[in-house]
Amino acid sequence: MGIAEVNSTAIKALAGEIGFDQVGIIGPEHANGPPWTRSVLVLAMATLDPAFDHEMYIEYDGRRRWHKFVYTILEAQGARLAHALREEGLRAESLTFEDSFGCIDLRVAAVQAGLGVRGLNEVVVTPKYGPRVRFTALFTDAELARDHPLQDYYCVNCTRCWGDCPTGAIGPRGFDRSRCIAEFAPTPEMAERQREVLTFPTPATRLQCRACLDSCPVGERQGVFYFDVIP
Ligand code: SF4
Ligand code: SF4
Repeated sequence: MGIAEVNSTAIKALAGEIGFDQVGIIGPEHANGPPWTRSVLVLAMATLDPAFDHEMYIEYDGRRRWHKFVYTILEAQGARLAHALREEGLRAESLTFEDSFGCIDLRVAAVQAGLGVRGLNEVVVTPKYGPRVRFTALFTDAELARDHPLQDYYCVNCTRCWGDCPTGAIGPRGFDRSRCIAEFAPTPEMAERQREVLTFPTPATRLQCRACLDSCPVGERQGVFYFDVIP
């Protein structure tokens, strides 16, 4: 795996070979990445199969955490791409879940990179997959051609996402994080609401709420499954 020439087209093609479904490129001013960053790749993977949003419960250092399956895939694919770019003599670091909050707002970055628009469900709605995508990012010192926000608005303002949210966390007044049950570190009250609303296939596994994703009529709804993305 390699590229003949360092440019945005070749690097996007490489990201596609590794398994990303969409790639956009923005400048370093949109993120708080390493100081040598000249370009930020915003990388998306379609998660049409809800299995991607299963989470496993783990406990270490006395702390309890849920970890989403798809974030592990995104981290692994991002690391593969960073490794491939380093093989080309570039500096490259991919995002990990742990440092994502301090480095970059992935929703803002995805819109800046032209991958989608911010929908009424408060997440990024893409033309091809609707909101059923997850994002990661990669920082590189390669100077690459930038992408730009989309001109078309793909959310059709149908408000189905508002109606299907089981807790009223999204609506005309925007997003109320305190009501969203897709929360990794819930308060005791929120944990009780999660127990009532979420599906727990095993004691250590849960299927995260994705009603605001599944209700959206924009884009494809089926077609990418586990064995299509895991070699
Ligand atoms: S994840 Fe669930 S609770 Fe949170 S905004 Fe979406 S539909 Fe509502
Ligand atoms: S469900 Fe309708 S209103 Fe909500 S994000 Fe999708 S298109 Fe927009």
